[in-house]
Amino acid sequence: MMLGLIDVSKSKEDFQRLKSYWNTFHCQSKIISSKNRIYGKYCKNRFCTVCSAIRKADIIHRYYPTLKTWKEPHFLTLTVRAVKIKSLNKWINGMFRAFSLILDRYKKRFQRGKGIPLIGIKSLECNFNPQRKTYNPHFHIITANLEIAEILKKEWLQIWKYKDNPNQIVVSSKAQFIRKVENLERDLIEVIKYGSKIFTEPDIKKKI
Ligand SMILES: [Zn+2]
Repeated sequence: MMLGLIDVSKSKEDFQRLKSYWNTFHCQSKIISSKNRIYGKYCKNRFCTVCSAIRKADIIHRYYPTLKTWKEPHFLTLTVRAVKIKSLNKWINGMFRAFSLILDRYKKRFQRGKGIPLIGIKSLECNFNPQRKTYNPHFHIITANLEIAEILKKEWLQIWKYKDNPNQIVVSSKAQFIRKVENLERDLIEVIKYGSKIFTEPDIKKKI
């Protein structure tokens, strides 16, 4: 995979990327052993499968003990509509801004003695549709309880209601999912999966 990406970055004359891909190519290729321990140099790039796996394990290890104490964790997905590459950056920035706005509002409310604190963890994922050439950025969130998930969903729909063109559906309520967490470890992995998936099935229907 790295050699393939190296060829691409060469053809685009992206020398910074080229260097990063070579670092990943050589990740853990030299191992030094001393006193029954082995040491190697990690590239720490998000497209490195070795480094992503380690980072993932590290995050699970740090977050799991806290999430385990939550009484009724829920899994929530917040999306916007599929977008083209040229506006992807704008949309992702907008998603983060919208989310911060909701958090700030509820934080202030809670400080005034109203409402509940919004507790959860979130991550951004972006799928690519190779047929339509569109991107589908979305947040994966685990909330401490159902009420928080419902608040986030409600506010998310509200915040996107009048954005952009009023005739165009930006965020559909059908596309926002809430479900109870049945398997905490599995859902935590879903949220914290870090880096890039290597393979995308080009035929979407086949994937289903
Ligand atoms: Zn690496």
